[in-house]
Amino acid sequence: MTVPLRPLLLLLALLPISCGAETPDVGSRRPNVLLLSLDSVRPDELSIYGGISPWKPASVISPNIDALANGGVRFTQAVSTTSWTLPAHMALLTGLPDRLHGVTDNHQRLDPAIGTLAETLGARGYRTAGFFSGPNLHPVFGFANGFETYENKGSNHPDLSVFADERPGAMVAVHKDSHEDITSPALVDAASDFLADMARGDDPFFCFVHWWDPHYDYMAPAEFVDRFARDDFDPETADVHGKWEVDKLKSDWNERSAKDLLALYHSELAFTDSEVGRLLSRLDELELADDTLVILVSDHGEEFFDHDRWGHQRTLYDEVVRVPLIMRLPGVLPRETVANGQARIQDIFATVADLTDSALPNSMSTKDEAGFIGTSLRPLWENPNHLGFPQLMRLDVPYRGIDLAGLRFNGEANERWKVVLNATTQIASIVDLAADPKERKVIEIHNYPASAHPLIERTRSALEQVERTKAHMPSTPNHGGALLTPDHHAELERLGYFDKAGED
Ligand SMILES: [Zn+2]
Repeated sequence: MTVPLRPLLLLLALLPISCGAETPDVGSRRPNVLLLSLDSVRPDELSIYGGISPWKPASVISPNIDALANGGVRFTQAVSTTSWTLPAHMALLTGLPDRLHGVTDNHQRLDPAIGTLAETLGARGYRTAGFFSGPNLHPVFGFANGFETYENKGSNHPDLSVFADERPGAMVAVHKDSHEDITSPALVDAASDFLADMARGDDPFFCFVHWWDPHYDYMAPAEFVDRFARDDFDPETADVHGKWEVDKLKSDWNERSAKDLLALYHSELAFTDSEVGRLLSRLDELELADDTLVILVSDHGEEFFDHDRWGHQRTLYDEVVRVPLIMRLPGVLPRETVANGQARIQDIFATVADLTDSALPNSMSTKDEAGFIGTSLRPLWENPNHLGFPQLMRLDVPYRGIDLAGLRFNGEANERWKVVLNATTQIASIVDLAADPKERKVIEIHNYPASAHPLIERTRSALEQVERTKAHMPSTPNHGGALLTPDHHAELERLGYFDKAGED
């Protein structure tokens, strides 16, 4: 009797363990995901990050975003991969730094072999929808990959027909028109309709919303301008318009006009915040908020004369690479929590995968000795002393002669260096962010390829490691190194997409 019983007892003894492993308790842990990307939002101009109106200090800039932050985790050292829209959003939605996703200018599109967040969540049984409002989020670059629906809510270019528009410079006109467009109400209406549809079903959903309104031009409705502009500000006669094309040529910037410009930006932020509030209220009304991971982030910041310029896509200074990042998931993420470790825009993908128990795509599982592929930010909210992760940054704008690569250290061993290599000027810039957070005292080393310096060597070594990772990334045969197809390229060129006037 003992002999036949032994295997049975062994089996019984193993059962609880084996059941536990085979029926994970994660089956029900599939929160909805609402990912809000607010374009060009500099964190330190939001109230919760310390932003104060220059003319009307009592006017709160971002009450709804502040409330969202208080209900979850706010990251104070979140960093993008670059300082403009297209590559930053590609990093957000692929979990990869720019060199690895490969879409660093308007000539390129995403290799279909690289997985996207929408594909990952779709494979996990999520319903997926994306709503965007700026031309750099166009499906031609690969942003629609994995979405069941992916809609343009910009009123000046409502569908794909712009890419069949053969007028010279049509795409530049689209950029200019898009800057003057007001899109948040249409975005929120469309996303709200999708949420209402989802509330009627049982499937979890992923909803991505890209907000173009905070991007220049700053043209908020008058009621928001009134809250932040000086009392005698008259938009009809003012020196400052908040229009990039008008104001970038000004040579007589002074303290008053700079304050006026910032007030117009704050007006746009407040308007955007009110629309964010409208969408989050809808989430509450539909009784979805308790089961929805809400993430709010930006793709890059904005310069306000911190280094003598206005705008973005020119440098890798902190005012353009730092972004706000807030996550809320009731009952899972802690409330009223501040995480001070360095969080990277490409980490959002892995964090969502972690919180939804989704498998990462092959492109994010590539052997990565440099450690720049996104990873879950869970350690940062679980351990307030966690330093986060070093960030690799890139800004490659050939028509402006800009070719920058940078490394922002995470503070390990008390090192808070930022190193930027300028391949055009051959000058390496080194900043100690702990001693000089505004990057006023930049150490410049000329002819850096030939000049020995340990920080430069570490930066170059990181860049070389990324190249080795790149060699192992999945790719599609004949994708041409992620370049646009010749047909796409010719079409975009004909449309003026590569003209120098293109901004972003
Ligand atoms: Zn942007």
